[in-house]
Amino acid sequence: MNRRRGVAFGLDPGGAGLENPRMSVGRLTIDLDAVAANWRALDRLSAAQVQTAAVVKADAYGLGVARVARALAAAGARRFFVAVAEEGVILREALGPGPEISVFSGHMEGDTPLIAEAGLVPMLNSLEQMTRHFEALPGHPFGVQLDSGMNRLGLEPAEWEAAAPLVLSQGPSLLMSHLACADEPESAMNPAQLESFLVMTEGTGVPRSLAATGGILLGAEYHFDLTRPGIGLYGGLPFEAAQPVVALDLPVVQAREIAGGESVGYGQGFVAEHKMKVATVSGGYADGLLRALSNEAVLFHGDVPCPVLGRVSMDLIGVDVSHLEAVPDHLTVLGAQQSVDDLANAAGTIGYEILTSLGPRYRREYLRGGA
Ligand SMILES: *Cc1c(COP(=O)(O)O)cnc(C)c1O
Repeated sequence: MNRRRGVAFGLDPGGAGLENPRMSVGRLTIDLDAVAANWRALDRLSAAQVQTAAVVKADAYGLGVARVARALAAAGARRFFVAVAEEGVILREALGPGPEISVFSGHMEGDTPLIAEAGLVPMLNSLEQMTRHFEALPGHPFGVQLDSGMNRLGLEPAEWEAAAPLVLSQGPSLLMSHLACADEPESAMNPAQLESFLVMTEGTGVPRSLAATGGILLGAEYHFDLTRPGIGLYGGLPFEAAQPVVALDLPVVQAREIAGGESVGYGQGFVAEHKMKVATVSGGYADGLLRALSNEAVLFHGDVPCPVLGRVSMDLIGVDVSHLEAVPDHLTVLGAQQSVDDLANAAGTIGYEILTSLGPRYRREYLRGGA
């Protein structure tokens, strides 16, 4: 048995802690009702005739694509986007034959059987991909990704101008582009990309899509026929009105008292100035608790912040619990006290990276009540 050892202080027994038997891995709670509510809220931000899709790439931003996508489908989502065809195959298994699954990276060599068998819709990005698609899968649905200024994926305006007559004759189901600065509403890049997209697509008669989460918040002129929210579904900025989706609690494995002058963790990353109580929690950079959080982040006991001491290790983090009456059996990383974006700020990154870094070791619990 892997029993807790060497706790030098009174443990807060049971209570609001992790359930028995106490696990040595963290508990990641994913609220599927909140995901569904966020999708509905984002859907309400655009007009009734604008369709709201759901972006579930990267395993639904790390939260588990099968569970998340089924919850979104139950909430009313009919169109899903993934980054690569392999993700589309997994999503098709989870969702069954009905919903449309589109692939941002288009039609790469080797994707043909995946696209054909899983019934995926590639968003073709280049003339090379178009040639490949029309030759390998004539008549198979496709969309077109246009570069309105981000210089990441899609046909450049001049390429599109030359290719448009032929491509449009093949009946694309969607013309799409992506905004580089949608999370900065004041950026001049937004109207510039909007204008470029309008010039490339006006009068084609093909359904259009420009907005992800940030673009939805920019207003109706960015919505076109279809929006593609991702991060907002998962409770992240820039969708400030989002309901929180994830909670993360880490068990305390051991606690000890240290004297002034003693250090904590690798490289003596923290040196105590006076006597302190240090709790060691199970969870580290292998679980997506980025090393940049070393000496920066706080965990919580209820509402009480408890600072990280020293470097985040692969599997463990030292936390200051000197100010608590007793050593708790767990500490909270993500929850009502601290959002994904709060933690991202402490690590100098964005909520997207925190979510997609959440590791496979946690015990994952999915909350699904009504809806
Ligand atoms: C990831 C992505 C989205 C979703 O973006 P969010 O900011 O997470 O809403 C939409 N469209 C494209 C092309 C993407 O790559």
